[in-house]
Order: sequence, then C-alpha cells, then structure tokens
Amino acid sequence: MEKRATREPDRMADIISLAKRRGYIFPSSEIYGGINAVFDYGPLGVEFKNNVKRAWWDAMTRQRDDVVGLDAGILMARRVWQASGHEEVFTDPMVDCLNCKGRFRADQVEELSGAPDVCPNCGRKGTLTEPRQFNLMFKTYMGPLEEDAGLIYLRPETAQGIYVNFENVQQSMRKRLPFGIAQIGKAFRNEISPGNFTYRMREFEQMEMQFFIDPADEEKWFDYWREQRWRWYQDLGMKAEHMQWHPHAKDELAHYARAAVDIYYQFPFGWKEMEGIHDRTDWDLRRHSEYSGKDLSYYDDIEKKKYIPYIIETSAGADRASLAFLCDAYDEETLEKGETRVVLRLSKKLAPVKVAVMPLSKKEPLVELARKVQNDIRPLGLTQYDDTGGNIGKRYRRQDEIGTPYCITVDFESLQDRAVTIRERDSMEQRRVPIADLKDILADEFTF
Ligand code: ATP
Repeated sequence: MEKRATREPDRMADIISLAKRRGYIFPSSEIYGGINAVFDYGPLGVEFKNNVKRAWWDAMTRQRDDVVGLDAGILMARRVWQASGHEEVFTDPMVDCLNCKGRFRADQVEELSGAPDVCPNCGRKGTLTEPRQFNLMFKTYMGPLEEDAGLIYLRPETAQGIYVNFENVQQSMRKRLPFGIAQIGKAFRNEISPGNFTYRMREFEQMEMQFFIDPADEEKWFDYWREQRWRWYQDLGMKAEHMQWHPHAKDELAHYARAAVDIYYQFPFGWKEMEGIHDRTDWDLRRHSEYSGKDLSYYDDIEKKKYIPYIIETSAGADRASLAFLCDAYDEETLEKGETRVVLRLSKKLAPVKVAVMPLSKKEPLVELARKVQNDIRPLGLTQYDDTGGNIGKRYRRQDEIGTPYCITVDFESLQDRAVTIRERDSMEQRRVPIADLKDILADEFTF
C-alpha cells in the first residue's frame, strides 16, 4: 500500500469537502448565502467536537484533584473588560480603502497585495487611509434601550469569567493553592481577517484553564503545564512531527504576560498556533482587585503569608484543536487495484461513531439480528445502523471517511453460526467472532 504525503497544499479543500459531505461542518446560514467566519457543526461534527471537549475536560479536571470546573456567563459586567484591558487594547490597526471601501489589517496589506500602499481588493495605489485602531469585541446592549449605559460585550475569551470567580470557587470548594479552574465555552471576536475554515472564526469555543499559584513557584508550574498540554495532543494520537513549540519573544508578549509559549500545528496552510501557555503573573487578580475594590489576595495559613496569586494559563481552542485532529487524521491511500481510499484515522476516543452495524440485506430475519447486535453494543458509545444501498465495500468506504474504527457485518451465515465479521478501519482486517463475545471484545477496545 502506497501512501500519499498528507501536507499537500490542496489538502484543505479535501478536508472542507469531506466535512460538508459527511455531516461534520457546514457553513452557517448557507441557504442565505452564508455569514463569514461562522460555522455549524453537523450531526457527526457535534459528536466529534464533544469528544474533543470531553477528552480535555476529563484530563484537566476529572482525572485530577487540583483543578475544578466552571461555566460562567457569556455576558459580563462591562467593568470586567475595562479591568482586563480589553476595552482599551484588544484592537488591531486597520486601514480602509477610499476607493472600494474594503477594510484590512494594516500589518497584512503588503502580504496580500505585494505593496504597503496598494489595496488588496481593488488593486489601486494610494487609496488606503492611515491605520486606525479597531476593537475586536462584539458590542450589544443590555435592557430595552440601545444607549451607552447599557453597553456590554460578548466575551472575547473565557478566562475573565474564571478570574472574577476566583474567590467564589476558592472559598466554596475550600481550595488551597495551588489549584486551577477550567472552563469550556463560547467566545466571540470580530476578527478582521478570518479564514482558513474553522481556524479563525468570529464565534468559537475555548477550553481554558487558569492555575493559581504562589509567585515563588512560577517557573515550576509554567514548565509543568507546557509538558501536560503537549502530552494531551499526543495521547490523542496527534503526530509529533506535526507539532512544534513557538516561544514568544519579548516584543511578542501580550501586555499581561511575563512568558508565553504556543503549541503550533502544521496545518495544510502552514505552521499556526493551536494553543497558548501563558505566565500571566498577578496581573489579572491585581487588576480585578483594583477595579472591583475587592481584595483578591490569598492567605496561606500554613506558610503564614498573604499574596496575590500568580496565574499560569493554558488556552486552547476547541475548534482549532478539532481542526488539527481532523487534518492529522485525514489520509488517502492507494489500494492494490489502484482505487483511492479516504480514511480519517481518528483516535477511537475522538471518532464520532465507534461502531457501524451492517446487515447484508434489508430483509428479515437479518434485520432483526442486526438490530439486536446493535442494541447489545449500544452502551459502548455511538453506533450507526447502516443498511444503505451499495455493496458492503462501499459502505466500508463511507465509514472510513467518517473515521469509524469498527464495522460489523451481519450476513446470512450469521443466522446459523451466530457469528459476525468485525472489520477494522486502519488495517482493513476482518475476523469472525461469536455474537455472544462481541460486547466483551469491543468493550476491551473502548476502554480508554
Ligand atoms: P491568534 O494570534 O491566532 O489570533 P491569539 O493569540 O489571539 O490567537 P488567544 O487569545 O491566546 O489567541 O486565544 C487562545 C486560543 O483560542 C488560541 O490558541 C486558539 O486556539 C483559540 N482562538 C483564538 N481566536 C480564535 C478564533 N478567531 N477562531 C478560533 N479559535 C480561536
């Protein structure tokens, strides 16, 4: 079996097409011509992304004693965004074209048009305005009147919901430092140059964890969490050669960070950030103490010292991680007869459908037996009953394309020998097993 390289430049088009064709990801509001940079997850996409989020939640909270969960509101007091600095500095410098009215990020004009004073859209020279700051937060109004007093924002990150709840969580859960708070939720950014499918969207989901520590342990925990986050992707099968560290140089650091390192993934469109690990020092709790008037320092009653906790943040995107897993899993193989097989080699944990059950015919008594087999294994995870037309080979290919690890074929012999064929996605190997043993065999495969 010959393998094609997986980093071809047009690979993205293949992945986008598969995502649409197979019910993973659709453009939002498509029948109305779409809305830029928003995507809808279809029946398989929602299962897949839920699996990514569940794997993160499990690793970050349920498998540990020192991190707890939170689900804060998307809408928050406007003061929060003044304290965090977002109202003032969460901006990109923009230029407008006086000719075609296009708007572009100032730092991307040259890359897009080939010259700093040429419009990337209409190609005119000298029609671009001076750069102006453009805030990336979506505005809305709380209450019946659209007036400044009711102005609030859709959160551009989930982190602030954690900081403002630091004391609530610490006291209600009687947590001693160091401990962390994890949250998964929607965030919104009016990105100027969205693109690359779900890589940069205007509505997306983040998976963030803030770890509160004694300032003396800053380096230790920064190193610890870098290591943990790298491992998480690998444990879910991501290929090491597609991952890279990208430490931030001093002039790249955000206003709140002392040190930051990104995990980059080699997407088909280039090496790009997938997750950031940041040493935010005491910036966040200090600012919220100042702006709210509430002292958010912590008293360590064993060490007998009081301090404002430092924070190590791990900030990942649920959509970006999902896209990276999809890109990593996508493979095309040329089989012996020259036929191409598209297969998503997703880890079993992330695959949306775990097992497909396929009766060879749509007629009784095969249907009854196949349904019984499906019901027996249903508790193991999402199953799909596939009696769609086409020979069994075509049905296998469809399951390969959506990443289903196992197919079970119920044939006429099954009625006599009470056995079925299990076919494995990656090796395409088939073996005959007694129906009575099926549940145990598969349960072994799906013990994570
Ligand atoms: P970028 O430089 O790509 O704009 P950032 O450095 O602003 O990202 P953070 O603010 O650190 O990103 O956000 C943390 C994580 O949230 C990112 O690593 C990414 O996974 C995800 N994320 C940020 N913006 C978007 C977006 N517009 N669409 C999808 N995911 C995003």
